Amino acid sequence: MPTPVPPSHRGGRSSQVPVEQTTLPRYPAAGRSPAPHLVIAVGAAEPPAPRPGDRLRTIRCGADADELLDAELATMVTGWRILVTGTESDVQQVRSAALARGALDSELELRPTDVDAGPEALRPRTVHCGHCHTRFSATAAIGGAVHCPACGCALVVAHHHSRTHAAFLGSPA
Ligand SMILES: [Zn+2]
Repeated sequence: MPTPVPPSHRGGRSSQVPVEQTTLPRYPAAGRSPAPHLVIAVGAAEPPAPRPGDRLRTIRCGADADELLDAELATMVTGWRILVTGTESDVQQVRSAALARGALDSELELRPTDVDAGPEALRPRTVHCGHCHTRFSATAAIGGAVHCPACGCALVVAHHHSRTHAAFLGSPA
């Protein structure tokens, strides 16, 4: 018989879903592997100090990752890693673009700059409208209400993040 986990060990209020049972992105503070890295700094994010063998590239926003990755991934060999720093929305967009080009999650290290307040906190997020499938940016907490700018639908930001869409699900309220 598994031992039930007391509610006090789940963190947060009892009405909340334990983070480990959701698809909210988590960012383990792992050290960098010794492999050479393609370091992608998005926007104003400060990249980590480059090491010998690293390549540093800067892009304005996550949407610029497609062009960059098309150029860079073709020249990378097995063993390279990709380190991305920027806002959560930006690093997730870069990850989505990298996965779409055949990179593996284990080859990616994400260093978002705006997640210190926790996975559910209020911050700019990319939301995927569950009604009309438009993606848009909104400043929202998980469980918070937003309106889809395309269809006007009232949405609740769900405990679900899609790696391929690089967006949180906005569930019609
Ligand atoms: Zn919509």
